[in-house]
Parts: sequence; C-alpha cells; structure tokens
Amino acid sequence: MTRTVRDYIRTIADFPHEGIMFRDVTTLFADPRGFRMAIDQLLHPYAGIAIDKVAGLEARGFILGGAVAHQLSTGFVPVRKKGKLPGTVISEAYQLEYGEAVMELHDDAIVPGERVLIVDDLLATGGTAEAGIRLCRRLGAEVIGCAFVIDLPDLGGRARLEALGMPVHVLTAFE
Ligand code: IMP
Repeated sequence: MTRTVRDYIRTIADFPHEGIMFRDVTTLFADPRGFRMAIDQLLHPYAGIAIDKVAGLEARGFILGGAVAHQLSTGFVPVRKKGKLPGTVISEAYQLEYGEAVMELHDDAIVPGERVLIVDDLLATGGTAEAGIRLCRRLGAEVIGCAFVIDLPDLGGRARLEALGMPVHVLTAFE
C-alpha cells in the first residue's frame, strides 16, 4: 500500500517530558520518498502564487523551509530563538505553558512589501508561528500563509492563526 506523509512520522512517548507524545519528523526527513512527498504537498496550495521569501521557524522549519524555498526559487530567511542570529535583530516574545520564549529575525531579512510564506514542522498552540508572523509583518512583509506538516488541533493553533487573517495549510493532524 502507498505510504502517506503521516506514515513516515514517528511518535515517541514521554519526550521531552512525561505525558508528551512527541511527533518526530526525522523519520520523514530520512526517507527519500517521504521527504519529497512532504515538500511537494507543502507547496501544493501555492502554485501560481507570487512568493518572495520563505521564513523557516527554528529548527525543523529550516529543513522544510529551505527545500520549499529552493523549489519556489525564493529567498529563505531564518526565524531563530533568542541570541542565535549574528546581525541586528528584531524580537517577539510569546507565552509558553511555563514562562516565555523569544524569536528573532534579522532587521534587514525582508524588504517592505515582500510576500512571505512561513514554514515549520508542527503547529501546536500557534505561539511560535504567531511570533514569526509578527516579526515578518514588523518588517513590512505581507505574510501570505503558514504551512506545517503536522497540526495538533486540540491545542488551537490553527484557529489562533486564522484569527490573525492567516491562511493555514497542514498535511496531517494528530488528535
Ligand atoms: P507552538 O508554538 O505551541 O505552536 O509549538 C510549535 C513549536 O514547537 C514548533 O516549532 C515545533 O517544532 C515544536 N513542537 C511542539 N511539539 C512538537 C512535537 O511533538 N514534535 C515536534 N515539534 C514540536
């Protein structure tokens, strides 16, 4: 039987904490058919749509976003965790279950008016992606959508991003 993207994703119980079912995309990336299928399906809604840059969210969004950008012949910009980018950055903080996290983007990564697609492996609460959207918008980008391999719908990320006017594309969901 033909395997789907979902079939290549491995689930590891109790990582990084007890009670968490970690959805591991390294098994998807490691398989040549799986990886190509994931990239092709991530790209699918954007055929014929003008995109200038792909913004990948650290860290697995770099792997997916780099391949998507190559396929679209766009630039790629990394949205990174605090303190990792060498140049002048802008920052956006967001709430985690315990405490807060900060994502950063080089302040010259995007030219005002550029059309940007945000890419990551997994959408949970949507906090990370929302920080990415805010960063891109602060530099004058028109964020045309967010694409993820996995959605965890119980955590509400999709509704949160759609409330920001953001079209969301996901390949598979885990309840
Ligand atoms: P959010 O900000 O709550 O939407 O969490 C999404 C971020 O956490 C993404 O950057 C994911 O890579 C990461 N993440 C959360 N849970 C998982 C998981 O089960 N597998 C892989 N990444 C995860």
